[in-house]
Amino acid sequence: MRVVVVPAPIVASGHGTPTVCARHGETATEHHDMTFRSLVPGWLILLYFFIGPALVVLIALLIQRKVRTPAWPFCPRCAQSLTIRRIVLAGVFAVAALCAAVSVFYYLGARGDRAGGMTGAILLIVLLLLAGLRAITLATRGRVANGYVAENGMTVEFRNPHPEFLRQIVAAKEEYQRYLASVQPVTPVAPPPF
Ligand SMILES: [Zn+2]
Repeated sequence: MRVVVVPAPIVASGHGTPTVCARHGETATEHHDMTFRSLVPGWLILLYFFIGPALVVLIALLIQRKVRTPAWPFCPRCAQSLTIRRIVLAGVFAVAALCAAVSVFYYLGARGDRAGGMTGAILLIVLLLLAGLRAITLATRGRVANGYVAENGMTVEFRNPHPEFLRQIVAAKEEYQRYLASVQPVTPVAPPPF
């Protein structure tokens, strides 16, 4: 997988932001004030089964790193991709809600094997909620742009960037490095011994 690591100040300042989208390399038709976030770590997803969705979401929100950017470029295909992701997300939650409603209805009306049916329904709802949490993270502009903040919050990495986006972002990085070099303080001269 190709990855380009970009210092967070470049993304946050908006200076040198490419004119094409990261995913398709097509000329941007819309720009969005948005926030890149760090990925939810794998151990937190495992913890979901032990401490439940509410605590996991709380921890995920507390530990996530964010980098906000004023006008990130997106092409029409990006917009389409986001719409599809949101429809899938809505679908997952609709099915979860339907399962919850059916299981409550079943529980209220059941005579015989209540426990067995209830356990199955709860397990199904938990799995659907897990799928929903995954879908939430997929249905974001940050995911469409394939940008993720590093755990230290200092950089944003773009995965599988389009070559044209890569060319422009590398140019922005070089300009940023030249800027840093120009503002670097002159090495202090050692004071005289007396
Ligand atoms: Zn695009």
